Amino acid sequence: MSKLKVSELFYSIQGEGRYQGVPSVFLRVFGCNFKCDGFGMPRGQLSNERIQIKPNKYKTYKDLPLVSSGCDSYASWDPRFKDFSPLLDTDNIVIKIIDLLPTGYWQGEHLVITGGEPLLGWQRSYPDLLGNDFMDHLQDITFETNGTQKLTTEFYNYLKAWSEKNKGEVTFSVSAKLPNSGESWDEAINPDIICQYQEVGYTYLKFVVATEEDIEDAEKADREFRNAGFVGPTYIMPVGGVNSVYHLNTKNVALAAMKRGWRYSARLQCDLFKNEWGT
Ligand code: SF4
Repeated sequence: MSKLKVSELFYSIQGEGRYQGVPSVFLRVFGCNFKCDGFGMPRGQLSNERIQIKPNKYKTYKDLPLVSSGCDSYASWDPRFKDFSPLLDTDNIVIKIIDLLPTGYWQGEHLVITGGEPLLGWQRSYPDLLGNDFMDHLQDITFETNGTQKLTTEFYNYLKAWSEKNKGEVTFSVSAKLPNSGESWDEAINPDIICQYQEVGYTYLKFVVATEEDIEDAEKADREFRNAGFVGPTYIMPVGGVNSVYHLNTKNVALAAMKRGWRYSARLQCDLFKNEWGT
């Protein structure tokens, strides 16, 4: 049986993108190929908030402090925090999902597989998870990805077959990283990979922005994706893992989206739950 290293498994409201407002089970798996220490920092500077957190001061994942700069889910990939994320077999994960669902079965809730970067090596484990009998009534799945990982042939074929067999839909929510993340353009903007996703599921782009410069970067990236054949919608979402930062630029981001025919994504998890762990 396959295993996944699980950072968080919780039930909440999807706060971002296409399924905003939909009750959802979130499976956050461990590991990422990026660090994104640039978020919330002046251009060219990297946050050291994460680095200053001492793992041995905390007992559980939920005890860890939230950060106002850098990646807001740092504990789901920084190796210093790896012991907070147990390796669970897929049957065990399904049992935990049943416990989370209010009625003990799927009744329109949505499954979000997030990270970290959920399309790293874990692609090999998802068929075991999704193939469990209990998952038959699951309707929709979203992979929240940074758009850098190609689907393996096996997983590509599996998802195509899954969509044909099930009533629901596979979605790729691609948060491609702009220079404000601190990651390099060449590694972060991968039009061919996003075009592969749209062959097997509904795919949209979601750029995290704060300044005019970020919005110009989003326009440039959007052009690159569309020139390669990407046809889905583009969202922009205000930067901000914590409320005080998030609310600084919500209105400007909404106005920028309206001007370009893009969609605005809120971060309902900040408004509703202050972006605490497990939300
Ligand atoms: S890609 Fe996502 S999970 Fe990975 S470091 Fe960046 S923001 Fe965090």
